[in-house]
Amino acid sequence: MGLRDLFFPDICPVCERLLVRGERHICAECISDLPYSYYWNSAENPAKILLEERVPVERVATLMIYRKESRWKNTLYDFKYYGDKSIGVYLTRILAKKMQDGGLFGGIEMIIPVPLHPFKKWMRGFNQASVIAQELSSVLGVPVKEGVLKRGRYSVSQTLKDRRGRSGGVSGAFYVADKEKIAGKHILLVDDVLTTGATAGECGKLLMEADGIKLSFAALAFVE
Ligand SMILES: [Zn+2]
Repeated sequence: MGLRDLFFPDICPVCERLLVRGERHICAECISDLPYSYYWNSAENPAKILLEERVPVERVATLMIYRKESRWKNTLYDFKYYGDKSIGVYLTRILAKKMQDGGLFGGIEMIIPVPLHPFKKWMRGFNQASVIAQELSSVLGVPVKEGVLKRGRYSVSQTLKDRRGRSGGVSGAFYVADKEKIAGKHILLVDDVLTTGATAGECGKLLMEADGIKLSFAALAFVE
């Protein structure tokens, strides 16, 4: 047992019991109860139907499906708000292997994470969607493209150059910096959760303004 274990004992985020030897991130009992969505195995599924109300999509997969009040949401809170990257990587690896084995995501050519507002990224130290994208990339063998889909205040030159790419709405201020870099690609857009589909829909619509885009989407959880 290391010093960290003495002062910060590892606790299962789902049931809040102490993890025992051999358990990592989530206790054995909870992991055997993981609320799998199985969407990686079905070309049509509720998450895809939800997203298709906003943007045309080829494939949609999430690892989990749970209701808002589920304790499984703590896994993503630990990842996103408490800086526990390792639980995000752990869950993503499970999803990536399911997607690979399911065979429905074979045509993906590029992975793009939903960007975090630069200030939030600075506060948090990382973009959780980028962590997921990197892990999916290493399992699926598809490159991640950062810096094309962006979030933040528009520069004047950007506004003049690319007025149509600007998005309205509450989350707002997403834009695509360089459409030529993604033209003709089948893109996997990645976020941590899918709830209303507003963010993914907005980003998806912007990406599809480039020529010949096919769009798919993956997240760790679909929240009902
Ligand atoms: Zn547990």
